[in-house]
Amino acid sequence: MTTLSIWPIKMGVAPDSDKSGLTHGMNQGVKIDTAVIVYVIKGAKENIIVDTGMGDPAWSEKYHHRKLLQYQDLAGGLGKLGLHPDDIDIVICTHLHWDHCFNNDLFKKARIIVQKDEIRYAIDPLPMHALFYESQLIKMRPPWLKAIENIELIEGDMEISPGIDIVKIPGHTPGFQGVNVKTEKGHYLIASDFCPLFENWEGSPPLKHIVSPIHVNLEDYYRSFEKVEKIADFVLPGHDEKVFDKEYYP
Ligand SMILES: [Zn+2]
Repeated sequence: MTTLSIWPIKMGVAPDSDKSGLTHGMNQGVKIDTAVIVYVIKGAKENIIVDTGMGDPAWSEKYHHRKLLQYQDLAGGLGKLGLHPDDIDIVICTHLHWDHCFNNDLFKKARIIVQKDEIRYAIDPLPMHALFYESQLIKMRPPWLKAIENIELIEGDMEISPGIDIVKIPGHTPGFQGVNVKTEKGHYLIASDFCPLFENWEGSPPLKHIVSPIHVNLEDYYRSFEKVEKIADFVLPGHDEKVFDKEYYP
């Protein structure tokens, strides 16, 4: 088997975010910069990306972030890795929050893999989650709709390519999925918003792990932590600037 590696692309940085928005009930008043990250998996027969990131600064600042810095569009980010959107065979959407699926329509030739439970909830989320999905409930048009013809619905875990497993880990959303990648140095779980920061996985005594304050079911979330403990050696978060301390993983 070829060697698999994982390359993060930074799409933008939201400065001065309140850390308590990522670490449930902790760090109130602590300001951090958070990144929007798309992950590329190299070394498989197929070109695979995990999530498709956010809208441009005008969109982001209108609806979501007070400010957005260091924006680069996804095609530009892929170009730096020698890839064109048409080269991508598989898009795995960890979930359908706007900043993880906004550019699905860029990938005309890709299968877009989404959990059934996720699309159900994306259509009819609780009011407090409607903006995250840019839901029609608040008169918006959900970004994943732009490429609905390429969406392939799955249920549960699935090996998508040798050494690359989709694992359903609900909690943040009902149909949340991570991607477990077998590398030379162990299994790396691309966790996305299951663990927005490394700290969510590493925990803070007495908490072994810290949930995101954005969640639909805490018992599912904890069961998902237990599942990930069994299958992954390392976790790659969804919004941590520290991800970019390394160009690629492992
Ligand atoms: Zn999310």
